[in-house]
Amino acid sequence: MTKPEGIIAGGGLVGLTLALALHAKGFKVKIYESVPEIKPLGVGINLLPHSVTSLTELGLLPELEKVAIKTSSLSYFTDDGKLIWREDRGLKAGYDVPQFSIHRGDFHMILLNAVKERLGEDAIISDHRFDRFEEEGDKVTAFFTDHSGEISRGSVTADYLIGADGINSRLRKIFYPDEGPPHYSGQMLWRGVTEMDPFLDGQSMFMAGHNDLKLVAYPIREEARARGKSYINWIAERRIPSDLNERQGDWNHEGKLEDFAGDFEDWDLGWLDVQALYKNALSIHKFPMIDRNPLPKWSFGRVTLMGDAAHAMYPNGSNGVSQGVLDAMTFAGLMVDGADDMPKLLQDYEEARRDKVGRIILANRETGPERVMEMVREKCEGGCGDKHECVEESVLEEVATAYKRLAGFDKESLSKKSA
Ligand SMILES: Cc1cc2nc3c(=O)[nH]c(=O)nc-3n(C[C@H](O)[C@H](O)[C@H](O)COP(=O)(O)OP(=O)(O)OC[C@H]3O[C@@H](n4cnc5c(N)ncnc54)[C@H](O)[C@@H]3O)c2cc1C
Repeated sequence: MTKPEGIIAGGGLVGLTLALALHAKGFKVKIYESVPEIKPLGVGINLLPHSVTSLTELGLLPELEKVAIKTSSLSYFTDDGKLIWREDRGLKAGYDVPQFSIHRGDFHMILLNAVKERLGEDAIISDHRFDRFEEEGDKVTAFFTDHSGEISRGSVTADYLIGADGINSRLRKIFYPDEGPPHYSGQMLWRGVTEMDPFLDGQSMFMAGHNDLKLVAYPIREEARARGKSYINWIAERRIPSDLNERQGDWNHEGKLEDFAGDFEDWDLGWLDVQALYKNALSIHKFPMIDRNPLPKWSFGRVTLMGDAAHAMYPNGSNGVSQGVLDAMTFAGLMVDGADDMPKLLQDYEEARRDKVGRIILANRETGPERVMEMVREKCEGGCGDKHECVEESVLEEVATAYKRLAGFDKESLSKKSA
């Protein structure tokens, strides 16, 4: 039997991870990416231990260690700098692999270089925007245009097609034409990066505030840390009533300091100058907190969805890209045994992933593990000292552990998998 060959629409983080995972198992695949040139865009993301275990399997650990920060802890504070909850993360928490905080562009380039080295320069074909597909017999044909959608780029035929084309997925729109725009949370995010002196131990992630006004920050570049500085990724989050224009989800939309910095004027965290963080930003982007509803079905014949195309989620819990990495590894793992029946394999992939990820989408709508911040806000009567004691430690711990279990990165589940 000849090994099935695939088409991946979308050369983002998940499309490239899938290509590497399939290549590692001996399968051929080509990636078709809409943009004419892949550039290192975006700001910070987190790679949680379950996805780092997979990326280690793909031989990417040394490159990640070179550029990313090994996250040591995650803390939640109120806006006056009082601690709510702190937990160790990654190696510090006893996992076998680190949790990484990394610039999305740095991660994208690591993946792109690995794809070019391992699969060849011609494995990724840019300026090819997926437009539609036709399935006939045991083959599927994908049709492409240039990035503008105006010039035809012809078609390619293969054994299966994966849509890893992001939150505004074209393939998803074909399956669900009436879905409409993404679901808007009512929260606007201004995302930026600033180089400053380190806060806490220079490797920590924190969140402060509550659902109406929040700051999330973490350093993302090892190179800056080695120089005694921190290249800090930050997200200023403010509740803004629903506005159709804000739902568009353009990752490149520029943000303005005056739209949010003033709201944080009274904030005093003690160990971080929040106004300096904002005012010295190297870049600011504005992006609404949006997701998409869990889907009833991902796989149709020889075609399926993956990553944000299948399950775009709010960033609470820092889980989006990690879940996409797990999709890719699950798919490639199934290919080893089931590649003689692609429609069935695509169903098995969906069965392994869809419900699990759907539950995470819904948990993130309830603010995921960040729920502890709202719990304290509701309960605290102002009598707590440097650390909040108004919500019992065991209750806070249960929130943290329950989310890790749901997302599959609690230590117990991970050690069972590696056993
Ligand atoms: C420019 C950009 C910046 C981002 N910045 C951040 C950030 O700062 N923080 C964060 O948490 N997340 C960011 N994200 C989203 C993050 O990358 C995803 O949430 C996550 O990594 C899941 O990866 P994915 O591969 O499913 O989607 P993505 O990483 O979004 O990749 C989708 C890819 O598909 C391509 N594509 C889209 N339509 C088509 C089509 N019709 N045919 C072919 N290719 C197509 C896109 O150009 C893109 O390369 C960003 C995404 C993009 C595209």
